[in-house]
Amino acid sequence: MSQSMLAGVFDLAVVGAGIIGMSCARAAAMKGLRVIVIDRDSQSNGASVRNFGFVSVTGQERGTAWSRARRTCAIWEELAEQAEFPILQRGLWMTTRRPEAVAILEAFLETEMGEGCKILSRAAARARCGEIVNEQVQAVLSSSIDLRVESREAIPRIAAWLAARLGVVFLRQTAVLAAAPPRIETSRGVVEARRWRCVPGDDMVSLYPERIAKYQVTRCKLQMLRLADPGFHLPGIVMSDLGLIRYPGFSALAEAAPLRASLESGQGEHVKHGIHLIVVQSADGSLVVGDSHHYAATPDYFTDERIDQLILEEFSAATGRPPPAVRERWVGTYASADRTMFIDAPACDVRLVMITSGSGASIGFAIGEEVVTDLFGGSA
Ligand SMILES: Cc1cc2nc3c(=O)[nH]c(=O)nc-3n(C[C@H](O)[C@H](O)[C@H](O)COP(=O)(O)OP(=O)(O)OC[C@H]3O[C@@H](n4cnc5c(N)ncnc54)[C@H](O)[C@@H]3O)c2cc1C
Repeated sequence: MSQSMLAGVFDLAVVGAGIIGMSCARAAAMKGLRVIVIDRDSQSNGASVRNFGFVSVTGQERGTAWSRARRTCAIWEELAEQAEFPILQRGLWMTTRRPEAVAILEAFLETEMGEGCKILSRAAARARCGEIVNEQVQAVLSSSIDLRVESREAIPRIAAWLAARLGVVFLRQTAVLAAAPPRIETSRGVVEARRWRCVPGDDMVSLYPERIAKYQVTRCKLQMLRLADPGFHLPGIVMSDLGLIRYPGFSALAEAAPLRASLESGQGEHVKHGIHLIVVQSADGSLVVGDSHHYAATPDYFTDERIDQLILEEFSAATGRPPPAVRERWVGTYASADRTMFIDAPACDVRLVMITSGSGASIGFAIGEEVVTDLFGGSA
C-alpha cells in the first residue's frame, strides 16, 4: 500500500471486516462519512462466513435484541437488492415432537414476538411439506419474517458494494496493532481517522484486552455440516424442540422448564453438547446443518465424529428422513459471554463492539446504525 493512502484522514476506521464491521461501515458511509475497514485476513474468514446465514427474529431475546433483529432483517432485504445477492429462504419452520414444546409455542404466540407467526397442526404442516412431516410431529411454528442468505457469497458482495457505491476503502492483510486516535498503528503503517470502531470478532487479546476481560468473554466452538440436496425444497428454516431451550425468546418463557427437563432426560447427550438443530437450504439444494456448543478460551479446531452423529440423529428425528450424504464439515467460533453483546467506550472517539452470542447476522445491522449515531450524532 502506498504512503499516500495511509496519509488520508478518514472520518471512521473500522477494525474487522466481518458482518459487524460491515454494518458500521455501511451506516457511516450512508451518512457521507469517509470510512476505512481494516482486516488482517485477505477475505472474510471468521464467524461471519462460517455461519448459517440465518437472519433470525423469531426466538431472539425479548426486547432490544428482538427489535434489533427486525431492523436488521429490513436492512438485509435492502442490501440484497443493492448488492445483488439472493434471499434464499424466508420464514422459520419450528417442528416439535413433544407436548411440552407445543406449550412453549402457544405461550410464544401470546407475546408480541408472535407477530407474523402461526401454529400449524400436523395435517396443515403435512399439506405444506409432506416430505418432512411424519407421525412424530405434534405441531409446527411457522413464521414469515426470518430470512436466510448464503453468507460466504453475501459478505463479499456487501464489501464490493460498499467499496464501489459508497467509497469505503478496504485495507486487507493488515493487522491493527494499537490505536490512539487519530493515529491507528497497523502492520502496514499508520492510518489516521477521527473516530474508530473495533469489532474484533472473537479476538480477545490484540486490542483492549483489559476492557474485554471485564465482560468475562470466552469462545464458543460449533460443528457444522453441509449435506447433499435431499431433492425437495424445505418449507422454511427448520428447527426442532432442542432450539426451544437455547433461543432466549423461547427459553426465557416459564413454559420452557418442563421441556428442558424432558430433553435432559430423553436427549441428555444432545443437551450436554449444546446441540440444537438448524437446517437451511442453499441455491443448489444442499443443506447446511448444525450445530453444537463447546466453550473454551482457545477451543481446539478438530471435529468430533460423535457430535456430528448426534446432529444427524436430530436431523432424522425432526424430519423423519435419513440424512443425505455429508459434503462438507467445518468448525466456527464466536465470542461468548453472559449477554447477547456489548458496546464499550475505551475512549470518547472509540467504540469496542462484541457480539457475545450466536446472533451477529441477526442483530448486526441495527447495532451498526446505533453505534454510528452514538459516535457521530444524527448527522455527519
Ligand atoms: C458456526 C456459526 C454459526 C452461526 N450462525 C449464525 C446465524 O445463522 N445467524 C446469526 O445471526 N449468527 C450466527 N452466528 C454468529 C455470527 O456469525 C457472529 O455473531 C458474527 O459473525 C460476528 O461478526 P463479527 O464481525 O463480530 O466477527 P468476525 O466475522 O469474526 O469478524 C471479525 C474480523 O475482525 C478481524 N480482526 C480482529 N482483530 C483484528 C486486528 N487486530 N486487526 C485486523 N483485523 C482484526 C478478523 O480478522 C475478522 O475478519 C454463527 C456463528 C458461528 C461460528
